[in-house]
Amino acid sequence: MPLRRPGHTGRGSRDLEVNPIFSREPLRVPRYAMPDGEMEPETAYQLVHDELMLDGNARLNLATFVTTWAEPQARRLMAECAEKNMIDKDEYPQTAELEIRCVDMLARLWHAEDPHRAVGCSTAGSSEAAMLGGLALKRRWRHRRQAEGRPAGRPNLVMGVNVQICWEKFADYFDVEPRYVPMEGDRYHLSPETAVELCDENTIGVVAILGSTYDGSYEPIADIAAALDDLRARTGLDVPIHVDGASGAMIAPFLDPDLHWDFRVPRVASINTSGHKFGLVMPGVGWVLWRDSEALPDDLVFHVNYLGGDMPTFALNFSRPGAQVVAQYYNFLRLGFDGYRRVQQTCRDVATRLSGEIARLGRFELVTDGGQAPVFAFRVREGIDNFTVFDVSAALRERGWLVPAYTFPKNRTDLAVLRVVVRNGFSNDLADLLLQDLRRVLPRLSDQDRPRHTAEDAGGFAHGAGAVRSRHHG
Ligand SMILES: *Cc1c(COP(=O)(O)O)cnc(C)c1O
Repeated sequence: MPLRRPGHTGRGSRDLEVNPIFSREPLRVPRYAMPDGEMEPETAYQLVHDELMLDGNARLNLATFVTTWAEPQARRLMAECAEKNMIDKDEYPQTAELEIRCVDMLARLWHAEDPHRAVGCSTAGSSEAAMLGGLALKRRWRHRRQAEGRPAGRPNLVMGVNVQICWEKFADYFDVEPRYVPMEGDRYHLSPETAVELCDENTIGVVAILGSTYDGSYEPIADIAAALDDLRARTGLDVPIHVDGASGAMIAPFLDPDLHWDFRVPRVASINTSGHKFGLVMPGVGWVLWRDSEALPDDLVFHVNYLGGDMPTFALNFSRPGAQVVAQYYNFLRLGFDGYRRVQQTCRDVATRLSGEIARLGRFELVTDGGQAPVFAFRVREGIDNFTVFDVSAALRERGWLVPAYTFPKNRTDLAVLRVVVRNGFSNDLADLLLQDLRRVLPRLSDQDRPRHTAEDAGGFAHGAGAVRSRHHG
């Protein structure tokens, strides 16, 4: 659903003018209305192609978590599968089989007790995966409440205020009260004590994030689980955890094998990840897995027969491209465990080196250093008040770099940061070029008598960071 942006009214007669390329007749086509007739495919192609040249250079986009580079072989497979619909499992049984294999591989990667008992599926991305994970929590809670003969009308979900916007959407769209733990001092994500404090008999679950969108930090999932175990022992309340591992669930297994955040923690009921982030697939594919079929209530799963066979489905979409799932399988096969480990380690190395160099510039303080998810946030040093992170972001943009600047949510709305996401393809070389440009603009910024850009005119970066949320919740 392409929502129109403000000021993008679509009215007026600003037609697209097409030069007489290929010695054809000059052409005018309406910009916002469907043309009356046909045009040559080459002309249409050139028109669309040329207009898209104005999109930024994805490799210089340090705002996005999403994969912007793929091997030619992965691209070729995706092109070969462009027409395959993931839902047509009867027509494309091998694509369906590859999806199952990916789920099995992820179940092992995330240490499911018995990988064959784990259930899961691909999704359009982590957002859809979060909706499904949240719905399963909600339904389980409702069954439990009904079995106890108690009211099931006021479910709530506990999470840090640093959650990605998909969890706000889940709460809003599916009538679950969101209970956000605010930031406090230099605690920028959920803590065990604060999570437990907000739990009651109506809590369907706690969302814990591996790789906070705001600063890349891992939330202490094992400790949150231990605190919830303690809550259970004290009060009988049994609150499951869903891990939002959009980025971290594809990093920690390779780089932090001893960190217990996954199905090794008995309280973790389900986990999602974005195949198109550190799963290294082009957008869009995500994954969600439940530890076993008890964690995914059967009455959420629909069975359809109109494509042939009997097909269980738990998804928000019906039709969805199969190409990304095929590409995910290709990546798993092509890189193997060690390949993923090396790619993610390189990202972490580049991130920590770059954050260290930035700290050494003397004008910034690191909020995180990229040593968890290869994502770090940094602020302008305390005491510097003649330029802001928004000035830095704007100055870097002059050279094509997209480095988003944003303020943290409550209670740290006073804190404004820049964030860099290091992805596969962002080499030490590119990091050096970024540093060079940062060094080049700093003297100019330091000579300013006052800030030129503030949070209000920091628009243009709408990449997952909650700071660009346009809706305000309480
Ligand atoms: C990116 C992200 C999401 C949303 O994922 P999509 O795959 O873009 O839908 C959710 N949670 C976290 C922590 C994220 O980083």
